Amino acid sequence: METAGAPGGAREGAPERTSDRGPAGPGRPGRPERPGAAGWVPGGAGVEALREAARGCRGCELWEPATQVVFSAGDVHGRLALVGEQPGDQEDRRGVPFVGPSGRLLQRAVAEAGIDVATTYVTNAVKHFRFTQEAPGKRRVHSSPDVAHVTACRPWLAAELAQVDPEVVVCLGATAARALLPKDFRVTKHRGQLMRLSTSRGEKTFLGTIHPSAVLRVPQEQRDAAYAGLVADLRLAAGALG
Ligand code: SF4
Repeated sequence: METAGAPGGAREGAPERTSDRGPAGPGRPGRPERPGAAGWVPGGAGVEALREAARGCRGCELWEPATQVVFSAGDVHGRLALVGEQPGDQEDRRGVPFVGPSGRLLQRAVAEAGIDVATTYVTNAVKHFRFTQEAPGKRRVHSSPDVAHVTACRPWLAAELAQVDPEVVVCLGATAARALLPKDFRVTKHRGQLMRLSTSRGEKTFLGTIHPSAVLRVPQEQRDAAYAGLVADLRLAAGALG
């Protein structure tokens, strides 16, 4: 697998992508406008200022049906960052990431891997909940973000990681991997591999694994093994902390 991030070329705390800037000008006819979040990200701002600024983001269309932006939680000086996909239904209502069933499972797995949950920084690749809903009042059904949403939202992720400056970044699931890991990374093939990637804060260690929701989705008889795999990957990440 190729590694990403040209030395000296990265401008934020995530491996460099030129697509951070997003498409200029109006969207194509019939498509939602997605100028990307870069225009809303205050330069050099700390995590709290980023969190506040993200409330006004209109970098893609996901802000509109969502209840609120869900930015991040945890230790803003955490040595280990956990990056998920997007907020879910409960996260969207409460404004905090990883508070639903997946979040509870993740907390348990992190603790079992020997990591102090209080010292981690948790965030998502996409900051607004994407869902489908048959009619108002009906259940909101999670819908995975498209690559375009990941690209639009990436300036927030890059800016917060530059501020937190974690030693190790764990990408939970394919969407987080798409935001931060080399293009040819596949969770099924490459999970649990430590990678050194160049960022504006120097080389950092990255690792991709499954999203905790994947553990909840497999049939009951496979759940213990899936959970054990997640814990093993997190243990590897913990071992990479200096
Ligand atoms: S999903 Fe990201 S880019 Fe889109 S509006 Fe929300 S914060 Fe902005």
